[in-house]
Amino acid sequence: MRTPLVRDPSHLDIAVVGVPFDGGAENRPGQRHGPRQIRDMSSLLRAIHHVTRTNPYRLCRVADMGDVPISNPFSLEESHADIAEFYRKVHAAGAVPLSAGGDHSITLPILRAIAAERPVGLVHVDAHTDTCDQEFGCRFTHGTPFRRAAEEGLLDPRRTAQIGIRGAQDSEEGWTFSAESGMRVIFIEEFARMGVGAVVAEARRVVGDGPTYISFDVDSLDPAFAPGTGTPEVGGLTPIEAQALLRGLGGLNLVGGDVVEVSPPFDPSGNTALVAATMMYEILCILAEAVVRK
Ligand code: MN
Ligand code: MN
Repeated sequence: MRTPLVRDPSHLDIAVVGVPFDGGAENRPGQRHGPRQIRDMSSLLRAIHHVTRTNPYRLCRVADMGDVPISNPFSLEESHADIAEFYRKVHAAGAVPLSAGGDHSITLPILRAIAAERPVGLVHVDAHTDTCDQEFGCRFTHGTPFRRAAEEGLLDPRRTAQIGIRGAQDSEEGWTFSAESGMRVIFIEEFARMGVGAVVAEARRVVGDGPTYISFDVDSLDPAFAPGTGTPEVGGLTPIEAQALLRGLGGLNLVGGDVVEVSPPFDPSGNTALVAATMMYEILCILAEAVVRK
């Protein structure tokens, strides 16, 4: 986004952060290269939103803090500890984080840092609920972050909307956990029936006025638009639907956001990273508006 590189968050309103980690991906990795290519493609973005006329760089102080240093990529739990430590500093400085992943497991340590004092609500856009208990005996993969976050009291499941869910699973346990814990799960068929406007209204009703985080998995999009990802699922959102969905969250009490699961090695065209950078820009605009209201 051509923002300055600023390592110290103390004078920032919004901190853009890369999390080059894919140790939580069980099949197709490469998300550790996501931040680099999202940064590259984000240099194509410009300032003023074509619908809202928001200019986030005018509204508040935005900078790129660079990537979270991962000290031992062979240890998933040490890497998550590195991530949480980085975001604790961002949070303590009063900056709102906007992150580029990384596989989806990174959202758990981000929430450990920014939701420690109270649970947050969540708008989670994804093909998958990411509420499995374990994958291959591991409890901290990219398929489990929101179950752990709910268990750890970081996430209020009754203030959680999961949007765009689809694709066959080998077990129903993730879908079941989401439903039984009180999350509002909108499968892609319901999304298609409702239309994006009604989905926005439903997500806003679910999260209400409380602090809310946005987590956008690029596999929520149809792989026609975003093939470079760990777990592609056909029959997904179009970019224009996703943009309208994110834009519709403006005015909520937003405390951060991320775009995850971009895997450049699976995307020869590089378009996935451009789409991801554009979704980050949509989130940046509504985060900037939220910062100004505070
Ligand atoms: Mn997914
Ligand atoms: Mn995910």
